[in-house]
Amino acid sequence: MGRVHELSRRLFLCELGKGAVAAVVLGAGAACVEDREDTAIDPERVGAEDGGGLVWQRAALGSVSAYVLARGRQAAIVDTGLKGSEAKIGDAVKAAGLEWADVRHVIVTHKHPDHAGSLAAVLAAASNATVSAGEADIGAIQSPRPIEAIADGAEIFGLQIVATPGHTPGHISVFDAGAHVLVTGDAVNGSGDGVAGPNPQYTEDMAKATESAKKLAALDVDTILFGHGEPIKGGARQALEKLAKTLG
Ligand SMILES: [Zn+2]
Repeated sequence: MGRVHELSRRLFLCELGKGAVAAVVLGAGAACVEDREDTAIDPERVGAEDGGGLVWQRAALGSVSAYVLARGRQAAIVDTGLKGSEAKIGDAVKAAGLEWADVRHVIVTHKHPDHAGSLAAVLAAASNATVSAGEADIGAIQSPRPIEAIADGAEIFGLQIVATPGHTPGHISVFDAGAHVLVTGDAVNGSGDGVAGPNPQYTEDMAKATESAKKLAALDVDTILFGHGEPIKGGARQALEKLAKTLG
């Protein structure tokens, strides 16, 4: 559904005045409206029927994505994009049916500025939220509130923390075992319909990063939400296993 929307938006992209706008052609007339590329589409619901449901919403922030994970009337935000991304993340919170005040947790997968860049602004808006990250990255993340160190196996908001060092020493991934949803940060990347390993250009320790990618392939994952790349909705475990085989 998301892809179809995105495609139709791109097809109708045109330049008019300042910024990109989308042209909607109706019969003989044509109208240009604001580009809605980054505004929210309907959130995805996973396992909502059995009461343990998770609702996730992607904030597409150009080259990188952040995610809102909601349960009932509360939410966690995973990653914050580059500096200046807070408004789009706020749109994703709204699209999940919630307000900034409902955000209880902000989890940063790693220290890189395209993931931690808007942390200060997001925490300013999400005044009820605590913030956490992997210990080894905390010193390199600027935050107005103390960052809690979360280690492998920790649970926060019903989400399991999976230490995935290598891309950065303190890199973590976030797994919802009930909904089978994995948020990978940059431990692995989306690549077409599949999964690619961490980008060597930006990865501090490829040997460790490779082990971490293999570790993710052992999880019972159905949906993957990448820092970079289109989410995989369904069959994600096979895609991870396929990658793991190529890693030797
Ligand atoms: Zn990174």
